[in-house]
Amino acid sequence: MKYRYLSDSHVHTDCSRDAADPTTMMCESACRLGLYTLTITDHCECNVYKEEAYDRSVRQSYFEARKASAVFHGRLHVRAGVEIGQPMQNLEAANEVLDACDFDFALASVHNVKGMADFYELDYGEIQLNDVLMRYFDEIMETIEWGRFDSLAHLTYPWRYIVGEHGLTIENSLFDERVDQVLKALIASNKALEVNTSGLRQKLGETMPNQKILERYRELGGRLVTVGSDAHRWADVGGGVEEGLALLKKAGFSHFTVYAHHTPKFLPIE
Ligand SMILES: [Zn+2]
Ligand SMILES: [Zn+2]
Repeated sequence: MKYRYLSDSHVHTDCSRDAADPTTMMCESACRLGLYTLTITDHCECNVYKEEAYDRSVRQSYFEARKASAVFHGRLHVRAGVEIGQPMQNLEAANEVLDACDFDFALASVHNVKGMADFYELDYGEIQLNDVLMRYFDEIMETIEWGRFDSLAHLTYPWRYIVGEHGLTIENSLFDERVDQVLKALIASNKALEVNTSGLRQKLGETMPNQKILERYRELGGRLVTVGSDAHRWADVGGGVEEGLALLKKAGFSHFTVYAHHTPKFLPIE
């Protein structure tokens, strides 16, 4: 292992509908890899909060993370987090979850724009791609203005499916200004930007966001970054996190962050 404080701030357990491995297995995996901190961030998809019983699964996830933190004491720091999906589509749900549990860390994410399916399921023959992407950035901006989170998860998530899975082309320059707007808003509100390494394991072949955006964030004055594998099974815990740190170093960052009680702790990239 190349890095002293290798940590993973984005993993899913069987408390997420699209993941199957229990918290203990995820933690054991992290221990084997010699990780410093593992932050559990199960899904809370606000737009289907009650229908899909996220009010229950998120509480369970919180409880499991706290138990694991006690069990793994001395071997691994286990933090309790949550991935708040589409908070703007049901603010009541987002606030309820954040009030119900004393989380260490909240990721905010946008998996679908209001009234449309997840980018994972969209029919790309049927939509005006650029319009939908503009709406994606609008919703991210609204989320930052709302502000009840610590780090923005996987900025450029739609690229994973549009470019990675479907092999379509996006005119990236059309969105440079929107990306800048997001980065500046994060910096102004003291929120972190996540380097999501799942794209390295997938067809996209790069992190979300990519190196160019990380460099831009740094250039604009961004200092808070979290790194997460977005593992949905034990074998992916820590996946790509070393590459993520190497990328950050190349982009000029000397530290990354992990969170406890919503407070950033800076860890050296060394
Ligand atoms: Zn996500
Ligand atoms: Zn996730």
